[in-house]
Amino acid sequence: MSRQRGELDEKYLLLSKAYVAGKWVDGSGDPIAVDDPYTLETVGQVPRVSEAQVSEAIDAANRAFPQWARWPAKERGAILRRWYELVIQHKEDFARLITLENGKALKESRAEVDYGAGFLEFYADEATRSLGEIIPAPVTGRRLMVEREPIGVCVAITPWNFPLAMLTRKVGPALAAGCTMVAKPAELTPLTALAFAKLGEEAGVPAGVFSVVTGNSKTIGPVMTGSPIVRKLSFTGSTPVGAMLAEACAPTIKRLGLELGGNAPLLIFDDADLDTAVETAMVAKFRNGGQSCVAANRIYVQNGIRDRFLDAFGSKVATMKAGDGFEDGIDVGPMIDDRAIAKIDEHREDALRRGGRLIAGGASPGGRIAVPTLIGDVASDALLTREETFGPLAGVIGFASVEDGVRLANDTPFGLAAYLCSSDPATIARVGRDLESGIVGINTGLISTPFAPFGGVKQSGLGREGSHHGLAEYQNLKYLCHAGL
Ligand code: ADP
Repeated sequence: MSRQRGELDEKYLLLSKAYVAGKWVDGSGDPIAVDDPYTLETVGQVPRVSEAQVSEAIDAANRAFPQWARWPAKERGAILRRWYELVIQHKEDFARLITLENGKALKESRAEVDYGAGFLEFYADEATRSLGEIIPAPVTGRRLMVEREPIGVCVAITPWNFPLAMLTRKVGPALAAGCTMVAKPAELTPLTALAFAKLGEEAGVPAGVFSVVTGNSKTIGPVMTGSPIVRKLSFTGSTPVGAMLAEACAPTIKRLGLELGGNAPLLIFDDADLDTAVETAMVAKFRNGGQSCVAANRIYVQNGIRDRFLDAFGSKVATMKAGDGFEDGIDVGPMIDDRAIAKIDEHREDALRRGGRLIAGGASPGGRIAVPTLIGDVASDALLTREETFGPLAGVIGFASVEDGVRLANDTPFGLAAYLCSSDPATIARVGRDLESGIVGINTGLISTPFAPFGGVKQSGLGREGSHHGLAEYQNLKYLCHAGL
């Protein structure tokens, strides 16, 4: 018998309740429907939790905190490890859930499960390696000690583009450090987060240590940001919403982790290896259908290699297939909503109107499908260079000198990821140094890993996720000065 679209092996992982203080609960008012972005049919529903339920989750996190914080890191790590193993055991179900609610091609969803689960695996071990210090005292008879303490109750607000990975990046380090957490997934993609919480319960995460509240961000957000109990907000999403949340957190002086917009540049220099440049552009631009905050949004190609690059890149783009994420051979699934399609259309038409040359792809055929498209000779002030397109539309802009390239790349208020392709060590070193960006991919578009610090400069955000730096974001340093020795 053939499988129904998105049908899970383990039906219990398709949940319609929120997870508050260790209990699966209904909300108040109408539930929120979750739609498949390809068929536009409703595939699930989740509760609209009330303000009181958000407070209840925060209170439970506060009650659970002292014991969780004092558990040996090894035991917290063991729970994260079990959680990781359960997610991997149910990898296919998670991939189906992600494709069902987000639309991305199933192969991309599988890659997200591996990547997302990797944060649990990494922090399961990292929990035990977080060391304090003893600082040589400037006077006799004293010992200056520095301990790392978990900062307390944390909240997470996550976006729809990586429904699992954007959550595990926060939950992994928070719980490893000894913090407790209440998470609010995006309204469009809450199902993955609920399945993830279910496996957390199975893995032995104590009640209250982790809750998932679903519903309206305008109801949930203010309770989270206004609560004096909450010591940190970790947010991934757009810069305007991040700025607004930061403002709401100011009166209670919360720690902030903000992963915001990107508008990443990719610089391809004359001496780049052509195959490497094309591969870098393919991954940096089209991974996740371009719906990623590290997606190369502006591709600057030096004039000497430009025509060859456009030919080679154009032939690759022309072979890409957009369609139903559940179908074999699909590279790009449907876009998340109608607004996303409208933005891609607007950016494409604007680039063409300003003299851009269509090299591959073209207009959207209808529904939520955006055809992978490449435009050459894009004007340097076209809309697609100024705003994140968040879709499978690539525009190439020429430049003359290395200095010009760097100046164009840095001409943005954002600075999350940047990419460069060159074979010259001196160019790589110089441009790598001069790019105003938290992350630089050199001859690669694949930069994300739990082992490295991910985060931005300028208006792309604050703080880092991944690596031991990501753990430190959930810790306070306590200095103990011991006299009379
Ligand atoms: P995107 O463009 O990725 O949808 P958003 O910043 O709008 O970016 O959304 C990212 C996350 O922030 C989602 O979980 C969304 O529900 C949440 N969000 C949006 N607006 C608010 C708000 N006013 N208060 C709290 N959370 C919000």
